Amino acid sequence: MENELKSCKNCGDSIIDGRSDKIFCNDYCRYYYNNENGLRNRVYQFFLKYKESIVKYIDDEIKSITANLDTATKKMNEAEHESEDYWDGLFKKIILSQDLKQLKKLKESIPF
Ligand SMILES: [Zn+2]
Repeated sequence: MENELKSCKNCGDSIIDGRSDKIFCNDYCRYYYNNENGLRNRVYQFFLKYKESIVKYIDDEIKSITANLDTATKKMNEAEHESEDYWDGLFKKIILSQDLKQLKKLKESIPF
């Protein structure tokens, strides 16, 4: 545990020496990371400002696609086997399932 190699929160380099609670490799990295007016924090603040609306957009899409998926499934189940409606429902189901999978993956990839 104590020999576990940690990486600097700012530059990602390995922290070779020091106490186990050390999170930066040097004072420069500590300063850079914590500098409120620095580029890192400006980008982070910009990200936070838009993160909420991106998440909301994805959630709304997930809700809407889930509803369409239910409709397509119902259409497929009620149609005569291998009829035009059956294939149409099946096709929509496949496309919508892929969309749903992509959106969930996208949502998981949003940092913080
Ligand atoms: Zn560093």
